[in-house]
Amino acid sequence: MDLHRLRNLHRPDILRERLEREGVPRTTLSFYRYVRLSEVEDLRHVLYAEWDSLGVLGRIYISQEGINAQVSVPTTNLAAFRAALDAREAFANVPWKIAVEDDGKSFLKLILKVKNKIVADGLADDAFDVTNVGEHLDARTFNRKMEEGALVIDMRNNYECLIGHFEGAYLPKADTFRGAIEEVKEVMKEKKNAEVLLYCTGGIRCEKASAYLKHEGFTNVAQLHGGIIDYARQLKAEGLRSKYLGQNFVFDERLAERITDDVVSTCMQCGTSCDRITNCHEATCNMLLVQCEACAAKYADCCSPSCREIHLLPVEVQRAWRKGRSTRSTKTKAVSDPEGLRRRIREEEELLALNGSLHPSIPGGIGESASDLVRAGDLPPSGLMDISNQNPNGRDISHPHQ
Ligand SMILES: [Zn+2]
Ligand SMILES: [Zn+2]
Repeated sequence: MDLHRLRNLHRPDILRERLEREGVPRTTLSFYRYVRLSEVEDLRHVLYAEWDSLGVLGRIYISQEGINAQVSVPTTNLAAFRAALDAREAFANVPWKIAVEDDGKSFLKLILKVKNKIVADGLADDAFDVTNVGEHLDARTFNRKMEEGALVIDMRNNYECLIGHFEGAYLPKADTFRGAIEEVKEVMKEKKNAEVLLYCTGGIRCEKASAYLKHEGFTNVAQLHGGIIDYARQLKAEGLRSKYLGQNFVFDERLAERITDDVVSTCMQCGTSCDRITNCHEATCNMLLVQCEACAAKYADCCSPSCREIHLLPVEVQRAWRKGRSTRSTKTKAVSDPEGLRRRIREEEELLALNGSLHPSIPGGIGESASDLVRAGDLPPSGLMDISNQNPNGRDISHPHQ
């Protein structure tokens, strides 16, 4: 088998163009299943060929413990894709969750990876019973239990909670799943008998989180079945009121899916009410931030004046500057300290006014002749945090959670 044909090697801009040209309606959906899989490498190649022929794009992890998939399927091939899944015993009748807000451009290519685990949870599975999970709740029951006063806990990472979350939910400060679960254990240690409602994007993280918390002595743990994605679908189908406010952060090109019109966040650059989430367009930065339209225009879609300066240089100069710098980071960085970012922007604007450049060392750049004193922009931006999972910008995203 020619393995090169089982991989997509095109650049993102070419892929994006191809998707625009294709012009067929697509449906974004996700599914996961903990199921024993064998000969995973071989299975990976077979699935890749099969799904590629159906025009499936997306990101799928398979491992001996199961499958975790987020895909975009040409809507006309949905039935064929369903049939292909059902034809395999391991995936037969696997419930899938269809995205409510979809422009058909959620994924640019098909990535199918063999992993040790289908979620990078950092937990030692043999230390607790992973099958002893919390009670699965549908949207209606979840809402009712919230009204009855149950405690709601967001099991996502801090940056996923920025632009939307359940009303009054506890939002972990941690930027990894492992960190979040340890934090919850600590914060809730006096309330082990309280009724606890967990939720995450698509439900998969709560499978592990609920089993872990029960193992730690929590007695009344329930979880939102199908996560926020399916909650949104149930709201529509049953005309329920949403207790989730704002947008759902998703791990594809869309970055977010709107659930309600509530805006729960502010622009990290100017502080106005805003929930537009984006990545800094300077490829070596690519930092995730909440940025209003006005600031996007002002900073040329960048996080800071120093990134803007690079981003606005002639392409060849940018290319030379990027040599030896990483632009395909598998880590997501997000602003952890908006106040620090604003301070840095003010400082950079002052330096820029003074010297005409924040990157005076760039050959052929705007500031070529300017003082060598100012190297601030060549340093990694301050006020950032590294989030060692994925890059929600359609680049190499390594650990999708659901
Ligand atoms: Zn702004
Ligand atoms: Zn930047």
